[in-house]
Amino acid sequence: MTQTKIWLSSPHMGTNEQRYVQEAFDTNWVAPLGPNVDRFEEAIQNFVGNDIQVAALSSGTAAIHLALEILGVSQGDEVICQSFTFSASANPIKYLGANPIFVDSERDTWNISPVLLEEAIKDRLKNGVKPKAIVAVHLYGMPYKVEEIRKVADSYGIPIVEDSAEALGSMYKGKNCSSFGDIGILSFNGNKIITTSGGGAMTTKSLEIKKKAVFLATQARDDAPHYQHSNVGYNYRMSNILAGIGRGQMEVLPNRVAARRANHEFYKSRLGDMSEIEFLDEPNGFYSNRWLTCILTPSFEKREMIRLALLEEDIESRPLWKPMHLQPVFKNALHFSDGTSEDLFERGLCLPSGSNLETSDLERIVHLIIKKLAK
Ligand SMILES: *Cc1c(COP(=O)(O)O)cnc(C)c1O
Repeated sequence: MTQTKIWLSSPHMGTNEQRYVQEAFDTNWVAPLGPNVDRFEEAIQNFVGNDIQVAALSSGTAAIHLALEILGVSQGDEVICQSFTFSASANPIKYLGANPIFVDSERDTWNISPVLLEEAIKDRLKNGVKPKAIVAVHLYGMPYKVEEIRKVADSYGIPIVEDSAEALGSMYKGKNCSSFGDIGILSFNGNKIITTSGGGAMTTKSLEIKKKAVFLATQARDDAPHYQHSNVGYNYRMSNILAGIGRGQMEVLPNRVAARRANHEFYKSRLGDMSEIEFLDEPNGFYSNRWLTCILTPSFEKREMIRLALLEEDIESRPLWKPMHLQPVFKNALHFSDGTSEDLFERGLCLPSGSNLETSDLERIVHLIIKKLAK
C-alpha cells in the first residue's frame, strides 16, 4: 500500500480566498495596494486588537527590517535577539549593518530568558554600548514571558520588536500576541498558521509608526508630483492579489488555531505517558496556537531515531531551531547562553502539525513513534 506524504505544516485554504483574488482580477487591482490590502489589514486589526495599526508587507522578514530601521538601528549598533529562533529574526539586524547579541532561552516557554536578557544589557552598558532594540520571539506559538521581558526592557529604556511570526492566535493573559511589542511582526509564509503564500505584516499602537512603515515600504516617495526621495526606500508592500488570500485566511483563523491545538492534544493524549517523551505545557495565563507540536526526547540519538523512522514512512518532522549563536553565519556574534537552547536543539523534534491533518495521519505518526521507542 502506498501512503501519502505527511508534511510538517502545509497550507490550508478556506472557502473565500479565490473569490477575493478573483475580485482583484475583476477590478484590475493587480498591484501592491488596493481594497484587499485594506480589508486584510482591517481583519488583522479586528483580530489582534482595535488599538493596533497594521501594515501588510511582503514578508515577516521585511517587517522586522522596517521595524528595526524605524527604531533607529543603524551601522555599528547592537541589537539583542533571542538565540533560539529562525534566522529571519536576526538577519535584518545585519541588513542594517548592526551586530546581533544573542540571548538564550528559559525552560518554561523556550523563549528569551529575562535573567540572561538583563545580564546581557548590563554587560553591554558596562562596555559603553546601549543596545538599540530587543527582538523577542513567541517560538512555535508559545508566548514569551511578556511582563518579565517588558519590565527589563523598560527599566533600561530599550524598545521591543515582538516577533509573532509563529504566534498569530496565541495569547498572553487574554491578550493577543503581536500587541505587546513597541512594534510587532507577523508572517504569512506558506508554512505558518495562515498563509498568503508569502507575506507579512507590522503591527503597532502608533499610527505614526504605521505611516512610516508604509512610506518606507513603498520606495519612500516624498509628497510631490514627480518622483522625489529624501530617504532610501524599499519595495516591501503586500500585493493586492496575495492580500485576497489573506482575507479568506483570516475568516478561518480561529478554526486553524483550534485544529492545531487539537493536534497537540492528540499527541499528548497518546504519547504523554511515555517516560521518554516530554511536551512543553502552557504556563498559567499562556495560550499557544500550537503552530508546531514539539517533543523532547532523552537524547540526540533518540531524536534522530524517531526522525529517520518517520522519514522512511514519508512523514516530515524537523529538529527544533538551531540556536543562532551556533550558526556559522553568526559565529563572531556575542552571546549570553546557559546551554538551554543547545539542549533543546539536540533533543527536540517538531511533529507534523498542519491544521489539515486527518486523524488517520496522526494515528500513523503516533503508532510509528510508539513502535520505535518500544524497541
Ligand atoms: C517565518 C518566521 C519569520 C520570517 O517570516 P517570513 O514571512 O518568512 O519572512 C521570522 N521569524 C520567525 C520566528 C519565523 O518563524
